[in-house]
Amino acid sequence: MDIWIKRASRAATCVYCKEEIKKQDFMVIGKLWRKLKSGKTWLIMLRWHTQCYIVQGVAAIKDKEIREPKIEKRGRKKSILPDDIRIKRLKIMRRRASVLQRIKAEVKKPKKKQKFEVLVHLGSLLDKCKDEIKDTGGIPTTWD
Ligand SMILES: [Zn+2]
Repeated sequence: MDIWIKRASRAATCVYCKEEIKKQDFMVIGKLWRKLKSGKTWLIMLRWHTQCYIVQGVAAIKDKEIREPKIEKRGRKKSILPDDIRIKRLKIMRRRASVLQRIKAEVKKPKKKQKFEVLVHLGSLLDKCKDEIKDTGGIPTTWD
């Protein structure tokens, strides 16, 4: 839907409150194309008082939030962790990032120069990170 704001060039009816939008008042216009399966299209023009547009928009979002509550995000969970745990968690994440870098660097080397033991060792470090972070609020979903 295209949305814009303009002064009413003539009186119109607000789709939200059904009251008149007076000529020369600001209003929000929504242009909506609808398409039938037959391919026939038509245009719907919606007009709101500017404040009604905001009210209905906010109401629609609030309504959606009630109907589809958000699953608690990883980021939110982190913020309720005590500081010392959060710092510990951050350290583990950094350590893991550096291990990943080292794995990348090792894998980039020509096959002959790659050391299997090094990769095994780095792999075990990754597992260790996973083990440790479990106690600081769980394993991040991106780690799998
Ligand atoms: Zn209105």
